[in-house]
Amino acid sequence: MTDDGAEMRFLDDVTVELVKHSASDTDVLWAARVSTAGEQSLEEVGTDPERSKGLINFLMRDRHGSPFEHNSMTFFVSAPIFVFREFHRHRVGWSYNEESGRYRELRPDFYVPGTERKLVQQGRPGKYVFVEGSPEQHKVVTEVMEASYRQSYAAYQEMLEAGIAREVARAVLPVGLFSSMYATCNARSLMHFLSLRTKSEQARVPSFPQREIEMVAEKMEAAWARLMPLTHAAFVASGRVAP
Ligand SMILES: Cc1cc2nc3c(=O)[nH]c(=O)nc-3n(C[C@H](O)[C@H](O)[C@H](O)COP(=O)(O)OP(=O)(O)OC[C@H]3O[C@@H](n4cnc5c(N)ncnc54)[C@H](O)[C@@H]3O)c2cc1C
Repeated sequence: MTDDGAEMRFLDDVTVELVKHSASDTDVLWAARVSTAGEQSLEEVGTDPERSKGLINFLMRDRHGSPFEHNSMTFFVSAPIFVFREFHRHRVGWSYNEESGRYRELRPDFYVPGTERKLVQQGRPGKYVFVEGSPEQHKVVTEVMEASYRQSYAAYQEMLEAGIAREVARAVLPVGLFSSMYATCNARSLMHFLSLRTKSEQARVPSFPQREIEMVAEKMEAAWARLMPLTHAAFVASGRVAP
């Protein structure tokens, strides 16, 4: 338990909330149509839906990427630190702010894989497949992780109680600890992220992401698809390659 009474939690899922957005298919259209319509491109936006769909498909197919940048989505993400380490490698078209282990006491929320998480890795680098774990393997993972988390969080608390600075005491906490951040992107940077961090039969260039960052990516993709359905459909139809 923390100073403010938070109980230890073992979580098997991530949280993604779209907290702020200015993003629609029409943002792609007016940005693209400035090429031919100049300042009238805004007025033409709603005129011909079929033509609009065709234009978005054309931009996606021919990888005219910049019209997909004139929009913004901010997500709140809560996920294990090992997911954030992978996430923050995406540098272009992303802005991040993450909670601080220096300025606040970190809460005891830890990741333990759920029963549907495939546990066993087979094959060789670049050709791994993951298969179901047995009930015994799930039991081992759950018991060992929970025991280890309890021990490391108790060590963290012991140091805090002895007056040690948060930034020093946090060194004992594992990468399975949950962190939280705001992440802001546009449709183009999101598509690039999705192309690498989801695994899909429809992908022209397959990727093999870690399941937990894929869980974050899937929730982001669902929120984005509701905001920009034509752009999302064009992305899928073009083999999930970012323009
Ligand atoms: C399945 C998988 C396994 C991975 N394994 C590892 C690993 O073992 N070790 C590891 O360190 N990383 C690993 N990564 C991370 C990977 O190397 C990338 O850092 C990460 O996917 C971000 O991709 P990105 O650089 O394309 O994205 P962004 O940083 O968002 O960049 C977007 C695009 O901008 C351009 N760009 C950005 N910066 C530059 C630059 N400096 N010079 C030229 N062009 C630039 C590129 O076209 C790039 O694709 C892995 C990623 C995946 C998806």
